Amino acid sequence: MAKIKKVEFKLNTFEYIKPFHIANNITYQTENIEVIVELENGIQGFGEASPSFRVNGERVEALMALKKVVQEMIVGMDVREYRKIFERTDSLRSASSMKAAVQYAVLDAFSEEIGVPVYQLLGGAKREVETDYTISIGSIEERVEEAKRIVDWGYRVIKIKVGENLEEDIQAMIAIHEVSKGCKYIVDANTGYTPKEAVKFVKEIYRLGIDISIFEQPVPMTDIEGLKYVRWNSPFPVAADESARTKYDVMRLLKEEAVDYINIKLMKSGISDALAIVEIVKTANLGLMIGCMGESSLGVNQSVHFALGTGVFDFHDLDTPLMLKEPKFRGKYKVEGPVYKV
Ligand code: MN
Repeated sequence: MAKIKKVEFKLNTFEYIKPFHIANNITYQTENIEVIVELENGIQGFGEASPSFRVNGERVEALMALKKVVQEMIVGMDVREYRKIFERTDSLRSASSMKAAVQYAVLDAFSEEIGVPVYQLLGGAKREVETDYTISIGSIEERVEEAKRIVDWGYRVIKIKVGENLEEDIQAMIAIHEVSKGCKYIVDANTGYTPKEAVKFVKEIYRLGIDISIFEQPVPMTDIEGLKYVRWNSPFPVAADESARTKYDVMRLLKEEAVDYINIKLMKSGISDALAIVEIVKTANLGLMIGCMGESSLGVNQSVHFALGTGVFDFHDLDTPLMLKEPKFRGKYKVEGPVYKV
């Protein structure tokens, strides 16, 4: 038996090394909640919630207030029977990042209890993955300087944030491409374009001879028709991020044939829905990438183990810990340039 004795929450604030600018949103710091699940034998499991108001409608204060609810939900349950705990914590519907942190802390405690790392509990498909690195929105000069640095650091997949100014975004793409030839690009508009602007953007980039591996969330999160319009008029694969939070969202996107890729983030889905989304998307022969919100190394650790365990992702966008000021690295993985490994 490995019963849960108590659950603790701890609020941790991390500043970004420099402000992170995406379409219509600038972030200077992130407030994350560390979740500690302690077993009767003293073993502890750790998780981290990085709430997002923009995507999930979550507020830190509201999540902190859930401590008693979570305790009542899972204290006394056995981490060896974690599916039962997932069933119960699925009811944290309006607190998906908290659901992720609690579910992961349970897996982490189970892992420590039996001496098997979480990525092996989840399938052990891979030993290493490669992350991209993101260029946030800025002047063309700033974006080019960042691209040069990223290439120098050895990253081979560059994520480019767009969606505030179509003409400037096209100019930035040309200038970034000049200094990063051979790299792959994930371009993310974070809901910033209209469907017609999005199609204009990709057609122009295609005409210029630049290849985009994934064009992420071009249009508003509820505009499924718009996503579909972009998908069928784009020479590049189109991904849903903000539009794909739960397994039910993903079912609908697939039925509507609205996207080529799903960007899974544990903070949107928790571990339980993320596992379901993996199977749904694989069954439909579509593509998967994994991303993150404002997680520190403690939180991205969850996504690294999820990605290694399932082994299903074509792209790993797990760079936030590289952009935060953190007093101490807390991942149960090693970082070697762009490679995360166990
Ligand atoms: Mn995104």
